[in-house]
Amino acid sequence: MLSPVVGLHHVTAIASDPQKNLDFYTRVLGLRFVKRTVNFDDPGTYHFYFGDDAGSPGTILTFFPWPHAARGHAGAGEVTKTAFSVPAASFEYWHEMLTDQGILVEETEKRFDERVLTFPDPDGMKIEIAAHGDAGPVNAPRFASVPPEHAIRGLFGVTLLEQKADETAGILSLMGFQKTGQEGSRLRFSAPGHALGNHIDLIVDPKAKFGRSGAGSVHHIAFRAQDDAAQKEWRQEISKHLDVTPVMDRTYFHSIYFREPGGVLFELATDPPGFALDEPIESLGEELRIPQWLEAKRSFIEQRLAPIVLHKSVPPIELQTEAGATV
Ligand code: ZN
Repeated sequence: MLSPVVGLHHVTAIASDPQKNLDFYTRVLGLRFVKRTVNFDDPGTYHFYFGDDAGSPGTILTFFPWPHAARGHAGAGEVTKTAFSVPAASFEYWHEMLTDQGILVEETEKRFDERVLTFPDPDGMKIEIAAHGDAGPVNAPRFASVPPEHAIRGLFGVTLLEQKADETAGILSLMGFQKTGQEGSRLRFSAPGHALGNHIDLIVDPKAKFGRSGAGSVHHIAFRAQDDAAQKEWRQEISKHLDVTPVMDRTYFHSIYFREPGGVLFELATDPPGFALDEPIESLGEELRIPQWLEAKRSFIEQRLAPIVLHKSVPPIELQTEAGATV
């Protein structure tokens, strides 16, 4: 019996300006900056991790901010929306707070059992706030201006755009996500239980065109493996159906990757060891952390990275878009 995949571990996307990305996710959405590191495959660029106060699995959104990245556009075989979970009673708070900051918010009164706010991040990535009755407890980020009762709990789930559903549904089912609902062209797959990130929605459109990856695009989504042993068993199981990479050491978790039949890159990441591995929980994200094998090149790496400022314990600021308008 394989240990169950309870939900998403993280979502990884591409951004452009590192400071705008950092400000939006910490000062507007109130997430904690849990790790300031570099892209291990391209150490001249940052890799940012945001999450709850501890960077718990299921709460994590990560970015590769490439300052000059052209904007992508979403299409078939891609994640088109990334949704965060908040309590039902927090819907009005988020609606008002986002609107007050001049962010263009679309409101969906009813999608299955949640009310949804959809809005773009500074790179046009579509973010959702899903307010619902099953949001669970919070480990609220210590430096956020969002009141703890309204704080983002973590990931709610993601929406994938697919030309067809069957094969993707087959892989989701293999991983323990069963179809639990349908509204129009939206099919919902859920993992049993109440873990964060246990909803994967497929929007099926046979005519959807493929997108172009770039700033504002999701690069991949990662599901949770309980530990290395569970990941090994899953690797064996999934490799009966799809090509799976060897295990890669991502320092804060260990990962395998495979592309689902519709084109979305999936990862299975271990819960341990987590973000407190190389710095105290009190000061997560405050200094650049790089793996041991890159330490010899630290000064070279630091010179190539744009300086960034992490603001703590301050109210949200007005963010500037490229056009100079506030967002
Ligand atoms: Zn990942």
